Amino acid sequence: MAKFYTEPVLTLISRPSFSAPEHLPVDWIGDSTDGERLAEFAGRLCYMSQHNPAKRQTREYLENIKKQGHGSVLEHANYSILLEGVSRSLTHELVRHRAGFAYSQLSQRYVDESEANFVVPPAVVGDEMLMETWRTQVEVAQAAYVGLVAELMERYSWVADKVHRRKMAREAARAVLPNATETKIVVTANARAWRTMLELRSSEGAELEIRRMAVEVLRLLQREAPGFFSDFEVYVAADRREAARISYHKV
Ligand SMILES: Cc1cc2nc3c(=O)[nH]c(=O)nc-3n(C[C@H](O)[C@H](O)[C@H](O)COP(=O)(O)OP(=O)(O)OC[C@H]3O[C@@H](n4cnc5c(N)ncnc54)[C@H](O)[C@@H]3O)c2cc1C
Repeated sequence: MAKFYTEPVLTLISRPSFSAPEHLPVDWIGDSTDGERLAEFAGRLCYMSQHNPAKRQTREYLENIKKQGHGSVLEHANYSILLEGVSRSLTHELVRHRAGFAYSQLSQRYVDESEANFVVPPAVVGDEMLMETWRTQVEVAQAAYVGLVAELMERYSWVADKVHRRKMAREAARAVLPNATETKIVVTANARAWRTMLELRSSEGAELEIRRMAVEVLRLLQREAPGFFSDFEVYVAADRREAARISYHKV
């Protein structure tokens, strides 16, 4: 029985680890994480201002960095997030974000999708009639996939390597799977790249599923490293869905 996701599942799986060099001590002030200190250290190196002449807390310092558009120092801090419960159509849009991003996604050629899960489009969630239509089509598609894999395995019986044979069958059969098929993807990006993607995808113009995901990623990263993301504000838009706006555009 396939599972139907109505929201993404996010897990932060990697964050920066900063080792402050003893020969260039910084006068740190205020709360901060390794990622934020790493960016502050990199920024201060540019002017050799480790003595912190303006007596800024780390997060005030980073606020000024964003205001000045000196965003390259944010590129030192990388965060990796495992995304699950997202659709293939979402990841198709997500992977368009290239600069500063790395992706590793579940392969539909290698992985058996006979028991794949699916993501309900936000506009369909809570509407029984639409849900019924959607669900029927998804189930028909999955049954067709299972049938095609079985048939293709027969047709390719001459292929000796079973792993290769399965791959050949699955890569053809997946053509009938819908965009709503659930996928898993590890996304790594630096803080500057996350900001650019989140600005575009949490805005009101973005598609609803990726927008919902972007708002959740934003919340996660705001908790993790407020110095990089505190200028984003989540609000409920006129369409009654959450969106986010930013103070410092494309630092
Ligand atoms: C609401 C919305 C609707 C969209 N609709 C469509 C659509 O209908 N069809 C479609 O194909 N795409 C669509 N897109 C995707 C969009 O065109 C971009 O591919 C996507 O947003 C990634 O943006 P980017 O290229 O700025 O990101 P990245 O590739 O991460 O680039 C980040 C920034 O780096 C710089 N940069 C990156 N590469 C280069 C380069 N080669 N040369 C110069 N500068 C570079 C640019 O400043 C760029 O903004 C849509 C996006 C959004 C948010």
